[in-house]
Amino acid sequence: MNIKGFCKDFVITYTLFCFFGVPVLNRIAINVSPKKYKEQLEVVLSSEKKKWNIEDKIIEISFNDSIRNSGSGKIKDNNYLIRLARGQRNERLLKHEVSHIAKGHCDRYYLDVKANKIYNLGIRFLDYNFVMEPAATIYSLTGLKL
Ligand SMILES: [Zn+2]
Repeated sequence: MNIKGFCKDFVITYTLFCFFGVPVLNRIAINVSPKKYKEQLEVVLSSEKKKWNIEDKIIEISFNDSIRNSGSGKIKDNNYLIRLARGQRNERLLKHEVSHIAKGHCDRYYLDVKANKIYNLGIRFLDYNFVMEPAATIYSLTGLKL
């Protein structure tokens, strides 16, 4: 196979993995992992913070029944919030969200003032779908820090 053919196959395969494989793997992570109480998840959070060496970050877990998908975000400074949707309160999903925080995904901003809005949205879309989400999903299922 020539290099051009390899690159084409790689891009197609990776794109399919990101848009179809990652959501399926996330579904599996949600469904195979047993549900946990908040106190149990706090213990997991504490060990994950040690594992990622982010014990200085203040991370709060919130159970939110009004959201469809769980997520994590920065509140301010060193404070982060992990919101877990109903039916998604398990160890794997918590690990997924902690890895987003540990890898700095919640600290990324895409606002290039010189670029237009479409460019900034495009970069955010590519970063989320091709970098952040696959890495967090693989970590939650295998423990591999990519
Ligand atoms: Zn994610």
